[in-house]
Amino acid sequence: MTELEAFRKDTRAWLEKNCPPEMRKPMQSEEEICWGGRNWKFHSDAQRVWLERMAEKGWTVPEWPQEYGGGGLSREKAKILQKEMSSLGCRSPLDSFGIWMLGPALLKYGNEEQKREHLPKIIRGEIRWCQGYSEPNAGSDLASLQTKAEDKSDHYLVNGQKIWTSYADKADWIFCLVRTDFSAPRHEGISFILFDMASKGVSTKPILLISGKSPFCETFFTDVKVPKKNLVGTLNKGWDIAKYLLTHERTMIGGMGLRAAGRPVSQIAADTVGLDEKGMLADPILRGKIAEVSIDEMAFVFALERAGDLAKAGQGNPAFSSVLKYYGSELNKRRYELLMAAGGSDALEWESPRSKEGALPRSWLRTKGNSIEGGTSEVQLNIVAKRILGLPGA
Ligand SMILES: Cc1cc2nc3c(=O)[nH]c(=O)nc-3n(C[C@H](O)[C@H](O)[C@H](O)COP(=O)(O)OP(=O)(O)OC[C@H]3O[C@@H](n4cnc5c(N)ncnc54)[C@H](O)[C@@H]3O)c2cc1C
Repeated sequence: MTELEAFRKDTRAWLEKNCPPEMRKPMQSEEEICWGGRNWKFHSDAQRVWLERMAEKGWTVPEWPQEYGGGGLSREKAKILQKEMSSLGCRSPLDSFGIWMLGPALLKYGNEEQKREHLPKIIRGEIRWCQGYSEPNAGSDLASLQTKAEDKSDHYLVNGQKIWTSYADKADWIFCLVRTDFSAPRHEGISFILFDMASKGVSTKPILLISGKSPFCETFFTDVKVPKKNLVGTLNKGWDIAKYLLTHERTMIGGMGLRAAGRPVSQIAADTVGLDEKGMLADPILRGKIAEVSIDEMAFVFALERAGDLAKAGQGNPAFSSVLKYYGSELNKRRYELLMAAGGSDALEWESPRSKEGALPRSWLRTKGNSIEGGTSEVQLNIVAKRILGLPGA
């Protein structure tokens, strides 16, 4: 038996023994996600146990270095873990902006003290992070940001406003882009800092979304004192960190193109449309559309895996995250259009869903944001044109 085969066998046995049965059922809604954090209330004992066991092994972040509490797995082993988890239907033990975005940036740009302070708490789900990038006049044109951090010798004094800050009202800490030099060219006066959302002078105001939920906020900073040690990387060089973090965010959002656990669209459609005499979906047009999305989903799985392998081998184009972000978020939007079409009248239930898929219209409307968050589809296409295709005038 090769080392990888032995690892697969052990991993499967470990997951079967340690993943509680409740954590192997598909989630009915996003309310069942585990986000962790100082004020996190576990939905069940099973959710708590599952997070603790996975964090203990460092498997909330299988490929991060063991010295900070990560799993230290090779890319091959991490893929095996991922495949075994998905074949057993194991839920993600922890979803976190710390894992998807800040952690990779800290591993590359943080100093040793910052890594030792923040990475273990991210891995164990003890601190929940939010992202302070967008401002009322700085979205696609992020380098226009105006939130300022003044040097007050032993600390920075932060004043300004962020917007669309996802879960700012629930987060414990923020990673934040601030302007530290107003006289420099736009991209060269930005710094990347971290601070506690409980600091004096931080306030949040939730914004209601089209889906009826309020996952994000306006975030205000009034004379917030931030210790100097919370600057990541070099002063005024935060743009490099911001861009690096965005490549991870975009790859993560692109991952929404992967079909989540749950019933395939074809089965949902079979419940409402029925089958013909050959046992095929009775509506041939819907059948064709489902086949098209299913094939695109499969191709996307391979594209994502290949991109991950190339990145790990240091051969990836950083701009490829824009391809994944664009395609994955558009694919997720197509999938939800189809789920709505396939679900019949049950799919329209807003308050008390009858469908086994939960409140579909809310999820469907939420997908509209996929092609905006982390940079819009138009912006991703601009990046692809300029940095991958090298089109003239792009
Ligand atoms: C669900 C969701 C969660 C989010 N979470 C966060 C968060 O946690 N933290 C955070 O900082 N931000 C967050 N955002 C904000 C997000 O990053 C911005 O909405 C996004 O970058 C677009 O900026 P904008 O809304 O200002 O739109 P604008 O930049 O004003 O764009 C408006 C329209 O113009 C188009 N456009 C703009 N520039 C160009 C161009 N050069 N070429 C072609 N078309 C262009 C855009 O594609 C878009 O259609 C979130 C957004 C959403 C929807």
